[in-house]
Amino acid sequence: MTTTPTSPAERLRDLCGGRVHLPGDPGYDVARTPWNLAVDQRPAAVAVPHSAAEVADVVRAAAAAGLRVAPQSSGHGAGPFMQRDLGDAVLVRLHELTGVTVDPAARTARVLGGTLWQDVVAAAAPHGLTALHGSSPDVAVAGYTLGGGLSFYGRRHGLAANSLRAVEVVTAEGSLVRATADDHPDLFWALRGGGGSFGVVVALELDLLPYADVFAGMLLWDRERAPEVVPAWAAWTREVPESVTTSLRVMSFPPLPDLPPFLSGRQLVVVDGAVLEDDDRAAELLAPLRALGPEMDTFARIPAAGLTGVHMDPPAPAPAVADHAVLAELPEEAVAAYLGAVGPGSTTSLLFAELRHLGGALGRPAEGGGVTSHLEGAYALFCVAIAPTPEAAAQGVADAAAACAAMAAWTTGTHVLNFSDVPVDLATVHSDRYERLRAVRAAVDPAGVFLAQHPVD
Ligand SMILES: Cc1cc2nc3c(=O)[nH]c(=O)nc-3n(C[C@H](O)[C@H](O)[C@H](O)COP(=O)(O)OP(=O)(O)OC[C@H]3O[C@@H](n4cnc5c(N)ncnc54)[C@H](O)[C@@H]3O)c2cc1C
Repeated sequence: MTTTPTSPAERLRDLCGGRVHLPGDPGYDVARTPWNLAVDQRPAAVAVPHSAAEVADVVRAAAAAGLRVAPQSSGHGAGPFMQRDLGDAVLVRLHELTGVTVDPAARTARVLGGTLWQDVVAAAAPHGLTALHGSSPDVAVAGYTLGGGLSFYGRRHGLAANSLRAVEVVTAEGSLVRATADDHPDLFWALRGGGGSFGVVVALELDLLPYADVFAGMLLWDRERAPEVVPAWAAWTREVPESVTTSLRVMSFPPLPDLPPFLSGRQLVVVDGAVLEDDDRAAELLAPLRALGPEMDTFARIPAAGLTGVHMDPPAPAPAVADHAVLAELPEEAVAAYLGAVGPGSTTSLLFAELRHLGGALGRPAEGGGVTSHLEGAYALFCVAIAPTPEAAAQGVADAAAACAAMAAWTTGTHVLNFSDVPVDLATVHSDRYERLRAVRAAVDPAGVFLAQHPVD
């Protein structure tokens, strides 16, 4: 006896060895939950493929059933789906399609579609190599790199998207395509900064960096010291060479037993990042900040794999809301505005308001690069609040927006896709490149099957 499908998604039920979860199934809630726990995404189905062939089966079946396909690796970037009902989409979660193969001679790694940075870094380390990863170990390579990819190696080595040599994608018709500078060059161009609108990425091949160790760490002061530290860091970042990539955050931690005493219940100002110099030169460069007498100073030479720990990103999924802006500069007036918004005496609910130093190789177009080969602007402002309840989320959204608004006089109006918690109009980001991006999308996905958090429409 055959049963009549009750929803289009029922047609996918037997795919992926049964790892397709529909609303009401026992596995649905776990499978649909992204890293960002504030995002209550409720797709028509969640598929958890173990191979590129299973991904292709899901894409073909979803398209035939009139459903869209939303690829997701870790769910760190799920924020924009707060504003998008996924009821017409199959969420393809790639977290079980993982693995890393390092070619030490070529200094490259091939990583499967859902692999996390921590696994790439661990596989590269025995060869004295590392990668253009971000601040957090459990962000996935795919979403981070398709969105550009801002690393603490960035001012010297540029965006992670420029480190891609090949991207293997399951297209809307269910074919597996390997895009490189020579094969499918338009698709390769679009994938490097255009996001997840072009297919499900099932593997990426990327250049590694020749660092076995790195001078890195953080400096920490009580927030009361922010009026000295923030202007000093702003002036310092105007002078430091490209070998230095750092961030400054004003942070507020709730009193929690899980947090170490130096964080629990404290309001702080923290500078962290990497200095790609020998120890003496690194110490010389850091001297002006160390002269401000930080309460903690962990800057030292560490194994390169340790760089994913210096930013103290949450070690497990968390509910968060965010807002961001790109700043063209950070003059004294902007520092004063930042301090007014989040410095001593302010009562914002933000966990942190971060200023990431851009420029250097991050600011220069890369030869032969993709749609996002560099970032305009001098600093990325990234404001994040923990949002365990709808009320906290509403307050956090308001406070993050207020902190960004306080800096409006210095913003460029553009976006760093990876820091955007709401769907970004890519036409504003890619301006004169947007028509080419749309043309690539129309060629590889004419029916608009793929649904990215920052869509190309
Ligand atoms: C704690 C934390 C720290 C961060 N630190 C940094 C940082 O240092 N530098 C930085 O640049 N960014 C950083 N980010 C932002 C992060 O890079 C983005 O959220 C990025 O989108 C995460 O990629 P993901 O694949 O892990 O997330 P996901 O939410 O899984 O993916 C985001 C989007 O990428 C696309 N995508 C993901 N996987 C695939 C795939 N296999 N095929 C096709 N499309 C795919 C989809 O469009 C998806 O909607 C951080 C975020 C958090 C929460």
